[in-house]
Amino acid sequence: MRTLIRGGWIVGHQEGHHTLWRDGVVVFEGGSIVHVGADFDGAVDREIDAGGMVVAPGFVDMHVHGGHRASHRLITDTGRPDYFGQPFLEISVPREGKRPTGDPRYTRPDQAGATEGTDLHATFTVADLLRNGVTTFMEIGSQLRVQEGLLKEVDRLGARAYLGPGFDSGRWVADDQGRLKRALDEAGGWREFEGAVDFIKRVDGSCDDRVRGILIPRESESCTVDLLRATRKAADELKVPISIHAAYNFIEFFELVMEHRMSPVELLESIGLLGPDVTIGHGNLVAENPQMNFAGGRDLEIMGEHGVSISHCPVNIARRGRCLDSWERYRKAGVNIALGSDTYPRDFMMQMRIASYFGKVIGRNLHAASAADVFEAATLGGARALGRDDLGRLAPGARADIIIVDVSGRGTLRYGPVRDPIKSLVECGIGDDVRTVIVDGVVRMEDGRIPGVDMEALRAQAQEAGEHAWDHLQDWDALGRTAEEMSPWSFPLMK
Ligand SMILES: [Zn+2]
Repeated sequence: MRTLIRGGWIVGHQEGHHTLWRDGVVVFEGGSIVHVGADFDGAVDREIDAGGMVVAPGFVDMHVHGGHRASHRLITDTGRPDYFGQPFLEISVPREGKRPTGDPRYTRPDQAGATEGTDLHATFTVADLLRNGVTTFMEIGSQLRVQEGLLKEVDRLGARAYLGPGFDSGRWVADDQGRLKRALDEAGGWREFEGAVDFIKRVDGSCDDRVRGILIPRESESCTVDLLRATRKAADELKVPISIHAAYNFIEFFELVMEHRMSPVELLESIGLLGPDVTIGHGNLVAENPQMNFAGGRDLEIMGEHGVSISHCPVNIARRGRCLDSWERYRKAGVNIALGSDTYPRDFMMQMRIASYFGKVIGRNLHAASAADVFEAATLGGARALGRDDLGRLAPGARADIIIVDVSGRGTLRYGPVRDPIKSLVECGIGDDVRTVIVDGVVRMEDGRIPGVDMEALRAQAQEAGEHAWDHLQDWDALGRTAEEMSPWSFPLMK
């Protein structure tokens, strides 16, 4: 079946960059785009009227941690100083012998209700991403059971995903005084790695090739050098990309310098892991970052030489008082910048806006991180990171992953007059403005509704799960705190 979308604005593509067509058309047949231009002469079976709206490639989210992220609601505006601005350690590092509750990513497989939690997280994740116009996402490091849940929902709801269970050689735990220490588990890491390879072999190319595998050694500091070497070998054999959190965390950076006398990026290079198929999660705390005080650092040069990408998660790191320093240096070095939502909200308009504004502020340059730059990072940046020249763009031969965005403000004055649609989306847009989502030529969301998803019920279930998680913090928190002790209310709670 051949479908034509007639839009107010079409984001087209030419020689590696986006273009704009005013009052243009996009035509797709099956799962492929066949034409983009001012008009189309051939016959079509169906026409979608997107008059006045922006027709664009779907976003590529290169840093998704599945779930509704209830526990992350505890770490806004707060955090232990001894975690150096990584408050995620507060909600992921338990007292020794305990496991965080409320997040199926940390639930024991045999714990009561483990599967229910997984299902809720999977549906919430995929629905939330589609609702915000993300047509391709990469999940970074959740365990096998979570990946299985996501796979089911990706299949059912029709998203495109890179999935693969994360692996590491042991996690951080807290001792009885709340101090971080490593709980090494090399054998467990190898088991997880084997499981990841098996999962990838099984799912790569499934769901009509909407699902591809990816290898995720979770963090540079939590994997042994041998495990990272095996990852590179497996990626070459399986021909799948790699993603790893690195240069993302002060503790990680200094731990690796102390252990190896190398920065995280230098370490990854020294063991041959880096390549154009590698996306470094965050990669903002590189050796050249003035905050690191690492004399003579050349991480960006190394990353550029190897054609590495980063998944920049602007909203999440801004909440921790950080940003990417700086867009111009990364791009000059040849580092490909892709965007990720990491936590919440999965609103890509907001992600682009924060990326742009912080890029300008930190670069002290109004030309830095332009609307065009951040829009390309949100689309083509992710496609490049995944080695896909058929994603992130509307061009003949590309997959028909298309979003239709209403820039009328629907009864509000939020957009005001729209001249340049990309600048308007970055400055005034919200995720809810995405009205229609097409993945692989199939309409997966229409007028904001995703067939098979009850948004209100989902949100209510997530609220309930959140209340439970917040109430049970003391069971496992490293310092034995209640939610209120960890995360005081913004204003005194009156009774
Ligand atoms: Zn992450």
